[in-house]
Amino acid sequence: MSDKKIPYKIYLEENEMPKAWYNVRADMKNKPAPLLNPGTHEPMKPEELAPVFCEELIKQEMDNDTAYFDIPQEILDYYKTFRPSPLVRAYNLEKKLGTPAKIYYKFEGNNTSGSHKLNSAIAQAYYAKKQGLKGVTTETGAGQWGTALSMACAYFGLDCKVYMVKVSYEQKPFRREVMRTYGAQVTPSPSETTQIGKKILAEYPGTTGSLGCAISEAVEVATSTEGYRYVLGSVLNQVLLHQSVIGLETKAALDKYDIKPDIIIGCAGGGSNLGGLISPFMGEKLRGEADYRIIAVEPSSCPSFTRGKYAYDFCDTGMVCPLAKMYTLGSGFIPAPNHAGGLRYHGMSSILSQLYDDGYMEAVSVPQVKVFEAAEEFARVEGILPAPESSHAIRVAIDEALKCKETGEEKTIVFGLTGTGYFDMVAYEKFHDGKMDDYVPTDEELEKYISKLPKID
Ligand SMILES: *Cc1c(COP(=O)(O)O)cnc(C)c1O
Repeated sequence: MSDKKIPYKIYLEENEMPKAWYNVRADMKNKPAPLLNPGTHEPMKPEELAPVFCEELIKQEMDNDTAYFDIPQEILDYYKTFRPSPLVRAYNLEKKLGTPAKIYYKFEGNNTSGSHKLNSAIAQAYYAKKQGLKGVTTETGAGQWGTALSMACAYFGLDCKVYMVKVSYEQKPFRREVMRTYGAQVTPSPSETTQIGKKILAEYPGTTGSLGCAISEAVEVATSTEGYRYVLGSVLNQVLLHQSVIGLETKAALDKYDIKPDIIIGCAGGGSNLGGLISPFMGEKLRGEADYRIIAVEPSSCPSFTRGKYAYDFCDTGMVCPLAKMYTLGSGFIPAPNHAGGLRYHGMSSILSQLYDDGYMEAVSVPQVKVFEAAEEFARVEGILPAPESSHAIRVAIDEALKCKETGEEKTIVFGLTGTGYFDMVAYEKFHDGKMDDYVPTDEELEKYISKLPKID
């Protein structure tokens, strides 16, 4: 450790920004399991994925060997409008906690989408445009991904159709209007505009929707509309690849001041921000060059890593998507309606699932009241109003810093602050009014969906 004074914010110069994404799969001995055709259970071939995804993105999805992918200049140009993002030393939080630990966070909320999702949205929109497509379809839950994709499509002049989980569509009208400002067409899901939507509505009248169901609708529209493809904001290998820009910048900023982290923490929904943040560090770990404790944090109401099963599962409710091997709660699982903190997807990135199964990382689940307590404590000293998703990582960063206070250890903790929470005020309101509770599913409830996982031999 050098004795250079560490500034509150470590910024990289524009010319120090990464010029290539890093593909952690290249350094994995056990590669993530391939996507399977839901009919034949054979590995998906590129030509089978072509009606759904953009060509260049399929190549990235299936490439387990190329370590670096050059970032095209057009994407770098857009990255420069909101990157590099700051790595902040949480001096104020350290002081408040009275911990000898050194806490850093990588802040990804400095763009209108309010999250890291724009890192992949702009890449996916670029490849769609390059392929000469008219537009893309997608789903959004809380709305950050839909917003990021709307921004990216507006930039490249692509049409953007977003299927938004109905409960969010109704509860977050402002998110919807942000997307429409960028020209996206937003439809509440399930809807009457697709076969699968009609089927789900007939089966479950009055349902407020789920991510899995919105995915099915978006895929159906992409595959049945000329010149359209489907894009996804998390879970997939290609998304982790694009998000590696977070980790590469973090590592460059730490290296600039000779800082070596002991613990790296990120929240995990589908695994994209965590996968991106840890990629270069995990690469060192896999190559035996360095060691880090890496912790995934998930909500105890949607505990894919900590209570799910590592198995092939459907990525969507309509079971039209390929099967992915991942830690999963079952594609029928929907978190309790009072769960306010995002991170509601039933599965997890195949890359992270394999790394977790191989023991390269840990996972913890945290209840939501504790998450919002951490969010508030953080906001009051560090100023930033965090997204509920990001606050899962804050919770565990604080817990680890408090352990250091007990033991007197001066550990260096880095966590991902994925975004801001301005559109989550209904959740904050519930917390402030004491109306938030910690619903944790029982083993029986989880078994109900896990027992329905597809049988693959
Ligand atoms: C989408 C989102 C997440 C979770 O998604 P991952 O793919 O697990 O990263 C976390 N934080 C914010 C702010 C998000 O928008």
